[in-house]
Amino acid sequence: MPSSTPNGKKPKDQRLKRSMLAYYLGLLLLVILINVLMDDGPEQIDYSRFVQLLEEDKVAVVQLVDDQIAVKLKDPADRTIYVTADVGDPQLTDRLLKSGVSFGGVIQKQMSPLLSTFLYMVLPFLLMSLLGGLLFRSVSKRMGPGNAMSFGKSNAKVYVEAQTGKTFADVAGQDEAKEALTELVDFLHDPEKYSKIGAQLPKGALLVGPPGTGKTLLAKAVAGEAGVPFFSISGSEFVEMFVGMGAARVRDLFKQAQEKAPCIVFIDEIDTIGKRRDNAVGGNDEREQTLNQLLSEMDGFDGSRGVIILAATNRPESLDPALLRPGRFDRRIPVELPDLQGREAILKVHARDIKAEPGVNWNVIARATAGASGAELANIVNEGALRAVRCQRNAVTQQDLEEAVETVIAGYQRKGAAVNEKEKQIVAYHEIGHALVAAMQRDSAPVHKITIVPRTSGALGYTMQVDEQERRLMSREEALAKISTLTGGRAAEELVFGSGSSGASNDIEQATKLARTMITRYGMSAHFDMMALETVTNQYLGADSSFICSPETAYQADQEVLEIIKTCHARASEILSANIQKLHELAAYLLEKETITGEEFMAVMGRNSAAQ
Ligand code: ADP
Ligand code: MG
Ligand code: ZN
Repeated sequence: MPSSTPNGKKPKDQRLKRSMLAYYLGLLLLVILINVLMDDGPEQIDYSRFVQLLEEDKVAVVQLVDDQIAVKLKDPADRTIYVTADVGDPQLTDRLLKSGVSFGGVIQKQMSPLLSTFLYMVLPFLLMSLLGGLLFRSVSKRMGPGNAMSFGKSNAKVYVEAQTGKTFADVAGQDEAKEALTELVDFLHDPEKYSKIGAQLPKGALLVGPPGTGKTLLAKAVAGEAGVPFFSISGSEFVEMFVGMGAARVRDLFKQAQEKAPCIVFIDEIDTIGKRRDNAVGGNDEREQTLNQLLSEMDGFDGSRGVIILAATNRPESLDPALLRPGRFDRRIPVELPDLQGREAILKVHARDIKAEPGVNWNVIARATAGASGAELANIVNEGALRAVRCQRNAVTQQDLEEAVETVIAGYQRKGAAVNEKEKQIVAYHEIGHALVAAMQRDSAPVHKITIVPRTSGALGYTMQVDEQERRLMSREEALAKISTLTGGRAAEELVFGSGSSGASNDIEQATKLARTMITRYGMSAHFDMMALETVTNQYLGADSSFICSPETAYQADQEVLEIIKTCHARASEILSANIQKLHELAAYLLEKETITGEEFMAVMGRNSAAQ
């Protein structure tokens, strides 16, 4: 949401509304004018009726205008002017004199020819064209951009410092990216410093990383820091209904940018237009034309004048290699998921916007959110604040934030959900199974929290493990310990109830994925040594992988995966059987309290072993 451009649809809609309003106002004025002119207009009567009125002595004034006779009656209530044709009655004057009304003629003033031309020719023309113009504008607005009239115009929006309102202080934890961008900011401040030495800065920099890591935010911050105009356009805006429009937009964008140099051009989601060109049937002509135009524009402009092109994408592997060659987007700035320190810093940046209790330990929250992106962390802080409001507190507490972490990971608590006693018991044993297996292995992260409160995500309970330190590497032993822990839930069910439930489906998925990765990508297989069997195709978006080996090898790999899982499952069962007393005691404790912390868990563990 925050990555949407500040000036989006609103002005267009407003302009449309305004022109429609003007049109209707004009129409209304016209109607009123006509009414005013027509009101109290003369009423036609017969000559005989006129004579009759004269004879009945009802007439007050008579005026002779051209070949018409205008009559006003004595009746004060009747203000109508009656007219009748002068039929050339020879007795008219006699009749009038006899009735004693005041009468006379009017000498017609001739209108100047200039004025009459204006009134009869020019004024209607002006009115018509005004109305027509308004009508046309409102219609063309409704058709939206991309119609014939706005052909070749671009939607590139100019917004400067004040409007992005972001600086590097708003971006936390992306120190390497910020450092790389600081150089660009410095260049924009003082291009001459660089040209004097003969140093050339890259024309373009590409921000790559998973969604929500702050790529759009960083680009805005660069504009904010440099205080130069910032042209922002999203890749999808280039792709138009008409072939050739995208290319026209690119041209227009670069023309504007060069006029405003020094400035920044930011192309968000560049993969929409920058996809690798290929000869595939049904290729997208429009997109390729747009891309070609972009390539030639990037070559065409003089980088030393201070135009810098930033682009962002989370699919760098799909970009056309031509975009990445030197002289174009040759500088690649990785914007990765934040590490522990980064997460803490991001949490603190967003904590500035909320009111938190002074004692809040952000480090604990950061440790519990391994793998979360900046956007998710921002969401967690906000969820915490929402919970504080819900509980009618006026500051956010540690507990609010911990609950928010779980909300973001596992969904909201379903307090009202009815889980029957038997199921609750199964879930309790399942979760304690995970926790016990984890606690009994050396290479496993400590248990942080166990709960059997159902969540809106469908989870009936879960065990949260939090590492003391950030880990980037995983040894074979740690991976195996993790798989054992994942199988621990099912193992406990089997041990206590004699059969497993469907509650282990997520564990099974995770365990299989990890085991497969060990074999196909981490080189942790006994058989395949350091041979890669899979490649990752979508590094930043879910990391899909695909086999790159023969079907026979794939079959063998599957066998090895199965072997690993079986071994780990057996190990988990072994651990639990050896500690069956603790399993029962802990499960009963969890059933009673529904949520227990890592310390409580360890306390029960310790008490038990001391008693034995
Ligand atoms: P991307 O473009 O990489 O998908 P955005 O820049 O749109 O991600 O980030 C979305 C939101 O997440 C930002 O508006 C900000 O609130 C938050 N965010 C992401 N990364 C960071 C960060 N490093 N520091 C502070 N906030 C961040
Ligand atoms: Mg973005
Ligand atoms: Zn489980």
